[in-house]
Amino acid sequence: MLTAISGINWGDEGKGRMVDLLSSDYDIVCRYQGGNNAGHTVINERGKFILNLLPSGILREDVVNVMGNGMVIDVKHLVEEMGRLTDAGIKITPENLKISDKAAICMPYHVERDCLEEARLSDKKFGSTRRGIAPSYGDKYMKKSLRMGELFDMDALKERLADIVEWENLTVAGVYGGEPISVNAMAEHLKKYGEILKPFICDVSLYLDREAKKGKKIMFEAQLGALRDIDFGIYPYTSSSNSIAAYAPIGAGIPNHKLDLSIGIMKAYSTCVGEGPFTVEYFGEKAETLRKAGGEYGAATGRPRRVGPFDAVASKYGIRMQGADEIALTKLDVLSDMDEIEVCVAYEKDGKQTTDFPFPQHLNDYKPVLKTLKGWKKDISGCRKKEDLPKEALDYIAFIEKITEAKIKYVSVGAEREAYIVF
Ligand code: GDP
Ligand code: MG
Repeated sequence: MLTAISGINWGDEGKGRMVDLLSSDYDIVCRYQGGNNAGHTVINERGKFILNLLPSGILREDVVNVMGNGMVIDVKHLVEEMGRLTDAGIKITPENLKISDKAAICMPYHVERDCLEEARLSDKKFGSTRRGIAPSYGDKYMKKSLRMGELFDMDALKERLADIVEWENLTVAGVYGGEPISVNAMAEHLKKYGEILKPFICDVSLYLDREAKKGKKIMFEAQLGALRDIDFGIYPYTSSSNSIAAYAPIGAGIPNHKLDLSIGIMKAYSTCVGEGPFTVEYFGEKAETLRKAGGEYGAATGRPRRVGPFDAVASKYGIRMQGADEIALTKLDVLSDMDEIEVCVAYEKDGKQTTDFPFPQHLNDYKPVLKTLKGWKKDISGCRKKEDLPKEALDYIAFIEKITEAKIKYVSVGAEREAYIVF
């Protein structure tokens, strides 16, 4: 049984929270793309955790966690994240954490290049998290990356590193005028963190293939949402990898297996962190009220998230791109104080309406067409059954289900593990 959990929107839909909840039924949780720009917040009986690189299944003792070849891994960040969790009493061993030997390493010079480029772009910046993700993926496809499996042979690694650093310096020092990168410093960095990580690095492709053939249940955890996918998102304001569910078997290392189930995590309203077109954006007081109600400040960066009403056009597109069989609608409780709740049902341009998601570069020409639904004005965070929900909340869910043609299977009404309803 292979299941993907992915985001329908712009990210921060609550994927970490749903992975933490639904992984109780799974043997393995695997992150298949992205790096430490992810921020997955999980709140359960063991505490509150923000995970950047580690799969959200790490908080369950009987789940094996895998970091796939589709990821880019900042080894220092990973060691520190593992340390934070270990300090909080979470057990991390080579038995419950396996890192792909084929995952690319995100180096300090990638972070440096990310910062140099965002500074150069100034007011045209992309809103990068400045964690080196775009330069890491860029180098991967330029075939200038070091991979985790190379940490086992430091002599060979150092030779390749010297060639790569020579090339990196053409840009970092030559073009941007930054501090030249030192081969020795980089080799020391890799040696130091490599020593700690080596016991966890293996051929996870082989491992996952064997486990899948034994009938083990594997869950794939995406980072970000459909609208940040490098191919299908709001390019160039996307992440630098494929966040869509269809990429999961590839980014995990088992392209010979097919997904059995795709669960899309969809937020009951819209948020978007960083730059780029955001058709349904609220401003001023309306935005502030929703942002506060939802606690919409980035988990990885602390940046205030842009907010707006539920966007049926973008979500329907996201559902299609994720091939979502089932939807978990999250953060419904955040809307409880609103007298009326707006939903974007179409986009409009020159008096013409569309429900098809446009080519991203044209998005700024569109205005949202809003429909207003009645609010429920009741605290729903304690609801655990469909029948507990007020009629207006059920109407809101039914409306979203109809307009997006999706099957809503779960509704979450709080950040805690148990705060959800099965539909
Ligand atoms: P992810 O990146 O998709 O894993 O999502 P984030 O963790 O970045 O953002 C989701 C935020 O909403 C986190 O702070 C969660 O603790 C919180 N959260 C998740 N589900 C719910 C919910 O149903 N209600 C409320 N109020 N908060 C939620
Ligand atoms: Mg997040």
